[in-house]
Amino acid sequence: MAHLPKLAVFDLDYTLWPFWVDTHVDPPFHKSSDGTVRDKSGRDVRLYPEVPQVLERLQGLGVPIAAASRTGEIEGANQLLELFDLSRYFSHREIYPGSKVTHFERLHQKTGVRFWHMLFFDDEKRNIVDVGPLGVTCIHVQNGMNLATLTQGLEAFAKAQAGL
Ligand SMILES: [Mg+2]
Repeated sequence: MAHLPKLAVFDLDYTLWPFWVDTHVDPPFHKSSDGTVRDKSGRDVRLYPEVPQVLERLQGLGVPIAAASRTGEIEGANQLLELFDLSRYFSHREIYPGSKVTHFERLHQKTGVRFWHMLFFDDEKRNIVDVGPLGVTCIHVQNGMNLATLTQGLEAFAKAQAGL
């Protein structure tokens, strides 16, 4: 593809998994003997089904991946990335409360990637309203991250680049 992002950034809650890690589930998490991830009360915790394929595809395209989350449940969120075997995909993680502008400024400082070379997926409009003005291509995730939404994002990014 002609114009690929130099960094793809994902929100966590309701983007990679269908819950708020600080509200709807009960950390700490563990992997049960059947391989499923469970919370403290034994409840099954899952990703949106196509998330591993989405990250695999980006990695195959050579696009580095980062996480940007405003959750206060920092330990639980990191633990889930490990237990779901996703940590190998994420070269950077910015997980703490506050405006996502901070998360993106730190990602820029750490990676040297400019905002207009970043592609961002988030289910919350307010984060897109905050981050969009930086020049990041933002995609509003509607029903969890999936391959169709990834394609939509890559196309929107390429279009934005062509318009520069
Ligand atoms: Mg979210």
